[in-house]
Amino acid sequence: MSIDLQHFILIDNHAHPLLKRFLQLDAVALRQSFSESRSLALLRDHLATSVFYLDMLNRLSILTGRAGEDAIIEFRANQSEQDYLNLLWDDVSIGGLVIDDGFRAADMIDLQKLSRLSGRPLFRCVRIENVLERCIRVATSFDELASLFVQGLSEAGMQRTVALKTILAYRGGLELEPVASDSAKSDFERVKRIASESPSWRITRCALYDYFLLVAFELAADNGWPVQIHCGLGDDDADLRLSDPLCFGPILRSESYAATSFVFLHCYPFVREAAYLASIYSNVYMDLSLSTSLVSPSAELIIREALAAAPSSKILAGTDGHSTPETHWYGAYSWKRALTAALNSLLAEHFIDEQQALEIAGRLLHDNARLLYGLEELA
Ligand SMILES: [Zn+2]
Repeated sequence: MSIDLQHFILIDNHAHPLLKRFLQLDAVALRQSFSESRSLALLRDHLATSVFYLDMLNRLSILTGRAGEDAIIEFRANQSEQDYLNLLWDDVSIGGLVIDDGFRAADMIDLQKLSRLSGRPLFRCVRIENVLERCIRVATSFDELASLFVQGLSEAGMQRTVALKTILAYRGGLELEPVASDSAKSDFERVKRIASESPSWRITRCALYDYFLLVAFELAADNGWPVQIHCGLGDDDADLRLSDPLCFGPILRSESYAATSFVFLHCYPFVREAAYLASIYSNVYMDLSLSTSLVSPSAELIIREALAAAPSSKILAGTDGHSTPETHWYGAYSWKRALTAALNSLLAEHFIDEQQALEIAGRLLHDNARLLYGLEELA
């Protein structure tokens, strides 16, 4: 007895758009989309020897009929964007995506174009920090900032907003405590001055930032938007120790945010911690995006660890794909391969029967995302 998930639809609950000319890339640029490192030497001399990257190229060779990185780069450069994108995304049955368009927004194609190219429903996830930084630059008072911020988060676009996201793990860590509005107010002039002195300013941990994060969490609950939180591996400027979801405990224990759903993204190497939190708090969910790609040889193990503690109604599939369609494709491929292996091993060890394995697969690959983000269009 074994299950096959090849044709199961995958809803990608955490992804980003593609680069504007995503087929016109050299080897270093393609590798860049598979690495969190900003070191050119690492991309040039080392990345292509990683097992996950070799596996990605091997799978891509089967799909394109071209062997090796050079031949694949030449092949993709001569395809139409629409054909190539759909060759990949159809191969792994990506049925819809929740997209954070706040990452390198100026370099990426917009969501409308991506939706047209891919012919798939796309939903928007709004990055809290981008909205807050934009509002701080224009607000002349704390009260004005407060109203601009709520307006900014609620702005309707062509693609329906279904979630908010915070990258606080990269901006000082996940340790966050409730903040009084008075301390945030008295921080306004200072932050405003720093922001106006540097065009490349980014918000980092301070009373003003913390306060507006908490405002966003409450607004999210009012609108039924889950809040995605990066944790574990991710940007190379993050202090990984402060990216442990356990650091977020004070907010999870606070009654004020009990109505907000939180989705921990990535999680590796804190998969057990995230799964534990998801088993304790009804409003905590987890995805394993990026982890299933960048440590794909361990993906089966990671999914088993998540399933060992967290209810299967709390785990979501995602790729964190960005820049190139190969990242979404390989993320989805790796997710399905690892989930198949994890469920087949649980089946062989008699933890679950075949029907239960298929139900769990359906939850992780699409049902949970549909329910949590309210994606009725995909029913
Ligand atoms: Zn991401």
